[in-house]
Amino acid sequence: MSSDQRRPSRRRAPVSAGAPRIGVDRVACSGHGICAQTLADVVGLDEWGYPIVADRPVEAKDADLAVKLCPARALYLRP
Ligand code: SF4
Repeated sequence: MSSDQRRPSRRRAPVSAGAPRIGVDRVACSGHGICAQTLADVVGLDEWGYPIVADRPVEAKDADLAVKLCPARALYLRP
C-alpha cells in the first residue's frame, strides 16, 4: 500500500446540508480497515491499519452504511 492510499482522499464530493461527520471509538476499533473502503473520501489508514478520519461531512446514507459495516461497532455519526 502506498502512502497515498493510507490518507483520506483529497477528492471532495458535494454533500447535503446537515450531513454528519464520522467518529471512531479508538478503543473499540480493531483495525479491520473496512471503513477506509466504504468512506474512501474521508477515511484513510495509518501504518497499522487503523483509521485516520478527515473532519468533514459525508452523505448520510454513506455514513450509515459504514457504521453498519464496521465489524467492531466502532464507527459513529456526529453532527
Ligand atoms: S471498519 Fe471499524 S474496526 Fe475496522 S478500522 Fe474502521 S472503525 Fe476500525
